[in-house]
Amino acid sequence: MKVGIPKGLLYYKYYPFFIKFFEELDAEIIYSSDTSKDILNEGVKYCVDEACLPIKIFHGHIASIKDKCDILLIPRIMQIREAEFICPKFCGLPEMVINSIPNMPQTITAPIYFTSMKKLYQWAKEAGRMITKDKRKIEKAFNDAVEEQRKFKDGIKDENFKLNIALAGHPYNIYDDFTNMSLVKKLNELGIGVITEEYVEDEYIDTEVKSLYKKPFWTFARNTYGFLSHIAKNKKVDGIIYISSFACGIDSVVIELVKDRIEDFPFMVLKIDEHTGEAGIDTRIEAFVDMLERSC
Ligand code: SF4
Repeated sequence: MKVGIPKGLLYYKYYPFFIKFFEELDAEIIYSSDTSKDILNEGVKYCVDEACLPIKIFHGHIASIKDKCDILLIPRIMQIREAEFICPKFCGLPEMVINSIPNMPQTITAPIYFTSMKKLYQWAKEAGRMITKDKRKIEKAFNDAVEEQRKFKDGIKDENFKLNIALAGHPYNIYDDFTNMSLVKKLNELGIGVITEEYVEDEYIDTEVKSLYKKPFWTFARNTYGFLSHIAKNKKVDGIIYISSFACGIDSVVIELVKDRIEDFPFMVLKIDEHTGEAGIDTRIEAFVDMLERSC
């Protein structure tokens, strides 16, 4: 049985879980390749125009492997934190993809709740049944996958740089080098260290979020707002770069909230879509770094 795993969206956060699960079921895993111009072009061809860049790229990953596998994983991720939700595009992702891309193979689309072992096991049972009838094997694969995910530590925390910036944005914008045009590498080459939200304790994020008049509904909004407010308020970095998808509703709200909170702390937003040119991004990064160097 060949199971296709697209390297898009929250693959960057949860690939240890998915890979281990399907490996333990003895499935052959077909990965899409890293994001590239060809994958983006395929995504733009199939996806609705109004969607954000990461959703278009996800469509491209699916299109690139759909004919090579028996079953495709389209993760319908519903929740990653208790009492919060993630972008609605994740909940409706299977419908978007299946109705946009012709000749799809069988798909795994059961809802995924990373907030509860019981609910997550429900997903595992449903997904596992499509590959084997052996319930014990599914249970073991699930337990091993949970353990693999627990051991996984993501995030960036550079050391030994004179100047440092907080890099904010959704994981698929931060960890996909094609999407962000190798932003971290470029910053490092300019002598700038990077820290991401995974290296700020949850309790600090909670403290910041409590100061808002309303608790954020979206986990992405909570994390980014709490991270940037904490790190700017305590001057833990010299500036902030926020990499944001054009047409992302969550980003547009969070950016305004952050600006309001951090006041004149150095802050640059890089908006990206499929038309963004690398030369323009490079110029903006260099100008921002120049400004940080002059003010230190
Ligand atoms: S959170 Fe924003 S960038 Fe992410 S999928 Fe939703 S609209 Fe797109």
